[in-house]
Amino acid sequence: MRKVETDLIHEGEHYNDTRAITTPIYQTATYTASASAEQQLTDATGTKSPYFYHRHGNPTNSQLGELIAKLENTEDGLMLATGMAAISTAVLATVVAGDHVVVQKAHYAAAQVFFREFLPAYGIEVTHVDQTNINEFERAIQKNTKLIYLETPSNPNLEITDLQAVAQLAKRNDIFTIVDNTFASPINQKPIDFGIDAVVHSATKYLGGHSDLTAGAICGSQEFIQKAWRKSLVLGASLSPMDSWLLLRGLKTLSLRIRQINENALELATWLEGQQGIQRVIYVGLPSHPQHALATKQMRGFTGMLSVELAGADEQVAYRNAQQLLSKLQLFGNAVSLGGVESLITHPASLWNSTQQPGAQGKPAFHLGLLRISVGIEHIDDLKADLQQALESLK
Ligand SMILES: *Cc1c(COP(=O)(O)O)cnc(C)c1O
Repeated sequence: MRKVETDLIHEGEHYNDTRAITTPIYQTATYTASASAEQQLTDATGTKSPYFYHRHGNPTNSQLGELIAKLENTEDGLMLATGMAAISTAVLATVVAGDHVVVQKAHYAAAQVFFREFLPAYGIEVTHVDQTNINEFERAIQKNTKLIYLETPSNPNLEITDLQAVAQLAKRNDIFTIVDNTFASPINQKPIDFGIDAVVHSATKYLGGHSDLTAGAICGSQEFIQKAWRKSLVLGASLSPMDSWLLLRGLKTLSLRIRQINENALELATWLEGQQGIQRVIYVGLPSHPQHALATKQMRGFTGMLSVELAGADEQVAYRNAQQLLSKLQLFGNAVSLGGVESLITHPASLWNSTQQPGAQGKPAFHLGLLRISVGIEHIDDLKADLQQALESLK
């Protein structure tokens, strides 16, 4: 079987029917009709038809869909304008009013709003469970449960869901499963191999890899992608031709980037664990992570996402230290988003404590001294040196 590095360069290139080495940008809203009436009908009604009208499809989007499906080991893939478009479209293709969905307590912030506010308002019941406890999933299942929706590792506490255990539970109960695989990327984790039914991505992150576009992907069986595509025609979040082209270009180096990012992150996390001023390092690749064994079982690499909790006599001191560190860092941009070639850092408590459900005993969801880091592909020595000078300023 052809290897992933080769697929990243060549999969789906048959959609390029020009002699250009790279698939062109089809910057067009519509296409002239084929001379054959039969072909016209196929173009107008076929799933992801690339030559009818942009909302239906586009040749570069088709190429991307085929490539991403191959990366995730699914029959088919659908590209959309954002990760949230992929998540909402995939979920709405699965459940209707009267159905019940089991989700995790920890999800990407906007997905959380979708599950807490949007779905219930449309008559879909949602139960939130602790992703680290398989018994909670089992107890949450009802007669009308149609979907279990997962995200692993989750944002920003980097907790892991046991994909195989949840997939088996779901199969026994005839429930569809979807995983948000954004944090891992298909290089590090393939949920389908553990029995999961479908995968969604914010392609804005690792897949695009250059922080220059937003995109989303849904991967699943042909039947599921057809259902999702029909929903997408109405929801309307089509991926633009330019972003589609940029994403295809970014993907060519996915394997190289992820390899370097995995390596940098493991080295940085290991080094940070020994630094003064750091209370705790949360990284699924470290033996100190409570679910390291599970991570090792279901992931081939540990991603570039890590979180650190700064030390401090109390949480307020840790908060001030976090702010001080942010102000001193020069290479790590203080910005949301992740998965790019450049390292970024964010302070989750400032961004999300006001919108996330409080944790145990009503404590805010995120520790005030917590910082989330997306490690890029800069040289590891420079990343360490930047963190070191910022940590020294805390002394
Ligand atoms: C960013 C992100 C999303 C949302 O993607 P957009 O492209 O911003 O819509 C969903 N899930 C995860 C895990 C993310 O990191």
